[in-house]
Amino acid sequence: MAAPGLAIGVAARLVVSEIAVEAAGRGVALETRALAEARRDIRQQLEAAAATGTAAQRSILGAHIALLDDPELSDAAERLIGEGFSAAHAWRQAVQGHVEVLRRTGDARLIERVDDLVDLERRVLLAIKGEAEAPPTLPKGAILLADDLLASQLIGLDASQIAGLCTARGGPTSHVAILAASMNLPALVAAGPGVAAITDGTPLILDADAGVLHVAPQPAELMAAETRLAARKARRMAAQAAAREDCRMADGTRIEVFANLASLAAAKAAVAAGAEGCGLLRTEFLFQDRPTAPTEDEQAASYQAIAEALDGRPLIIRTLDAGGDKPVDYLPIPPEDNPALGLRGVRVGLWKPDLLRAQLRAILRAGGPGQCRIMVPMVASLDELTAVRAMVEEARQALGRAQPVEVGVMIETPAAAVTADLIAAEADFLSIGSNDLAQYALAMDRGNPLLAAQVDGLHPAVLRLIGAAAAGGAAHRRMVGVCGGLASDLAAAPILIGLGVGELSATPAIVPELKALIRTLTMDACRDLAERAKAQASAAAVRALTLAAAAQASPQRKEAGA
Ligand code: PEP
Ligand code: MG
Repeated sequence: MAAPGLAIGVAARLVVSEIAVEAAGRGVALETRALAEARRDIRQQLEAAAATGTAAQRSILGAHIALLDDPELSDAAERLIGEGFSAAHAWRQAVQGHVEVLRRTGDARLIERVDDLVDLERRVLLAIKGEAEAPPTLPKGAILLADDLLASQLIGLDASQIAGLCTARGGPTSHVAILAASMNLPALVAAGPGVAAITDGTPLILDADAGVLHVAPQPAELMAAETRLAARKARRMAAQAAAREDCRMADGTRIEVFANLASLAAAKAAVAAGAEGCGLLRTEFLFQDRPTAPTEDEQAASYQAIAEALDGRPLIIRTLDAGGDKPVDYLPIPPEDNPALGLRGVRVGLWKPDLLRAQLRAILRAGGPGQCRIMVPMVASLDELTAVRAMVEEARQALGRAQPVEVGVMIETPAAAVTADLIAAEADFLSIGSNDLAQYALAMDRGNPLLAAQVDGLHPAVLRLIGAAAAGGAAHRRMVGVCGGLASDLAAAPILIGLGVGELSATPAIVPELKALIRTLTMDACRDLAERAKAQASAAAVRALTLAAAAQASPQRKEAGA
């Protein structure tokens, strides 16, 4: 599965046409100008699309712009033009050379950039040839089938025309998967070569939740899927109608439902979806895909705008989580054999204290009284928190801010989870980053598509660590939240609450349904479920247990997979 959901529709295949190019150039000056003009046009198109796009689209288009500006690529292409080749041939060779280099590294994170390069190769070639990619004509409600999709193809489609998509290749963390989720499109990727045999117009049921594509379903299957779809729609509408109300469990226990943000636009969407605050502002969006770090003023303005969009609601700002899976080009991190175990998160901040200091000052300058809180990523030991706290205090005094600011810790390493009682003695709150916690507990790279299905935060080992973190926080009466992907997983919510989590910070789109689900739960039932979940042998067994418990509690919850 790449993006959850259920869709009924007809197959419509999207084929990427080959672009033929002449190798021989028509003179160095002409070809150099052709390439420069094509790159300039594409840059303008990418910037225009990014200006109006969603946060996910902006981040992907930003990565494309950075690649377009990569001097290694343009130098290589210009060298080939100088040897007499055409602009198109030179660009193709330069990109393909770069693709080969990335592939040879064997580094999954770098290999992920290959799709972006192939996308960019195509765009620039079409621009050189003066051609435009004609948008495909798709029947309404199409389920898009493709061998693989490029991010630009998906961004160029009218999402209201498509019911879902399924690709033969690709990975669950690919840009296409991220875009599909941000467009609320049910999606399956890496479904295998069988996808190629499905002819256009074939009726399909795409059950992305179950990871299954039903080809030419029987009338009874179709009816059952239609009933499920109608029930989902009704449930979603009811959840949206009640989204702005407080979130209390059926027994009255208050659970805070916050949203994860990485842009101003997302903050507005989160408030509309009923988020009661932001439990994780991923500030990397301000630092990545640019040549230098943002200034203190630039950061302060951005945090201030997001704080205002939240209209007084709490805003938890994570300090820069650079390194590992979040490269920042201008940070001179020496080459590492294991970036996931290297200089990343708070380690970078303590290694480059000026960078962290500027960010702390920017955070302290933003928001209404007590609105902004600081959260420290990738903490392994209490002394990292102590060091950051000292820097916060110093900045607070220098700025003459009388009001103390809350400083919390992300629990993302098994070390932090098992010593949460020590950390909570000095932290104002804890927030569990289940994505990294699962990666480190299971020793499985969260970016490896071959392991994606197994890096599941509902693995009992991860649940036991979350339980330990929650107990550590409770010992000092600290709020313990979850801001990793598990908080957006309706199947996980009852277990997390049962383990002692009091705040869930989810993707904005799921907030209404998450709140609606929590309103049906009781703490006793959640605790009981959490205890049983911790005793299961695998994540799959935990998921089966939650489904069975949900079915027993209410048939509608079973449908929600919660
Ligand atoms: C996490 O690790 O769960 C988390 C929320 O941080 P990120 O996904 O940004 O690494
Ligand atoms: Mg993390």
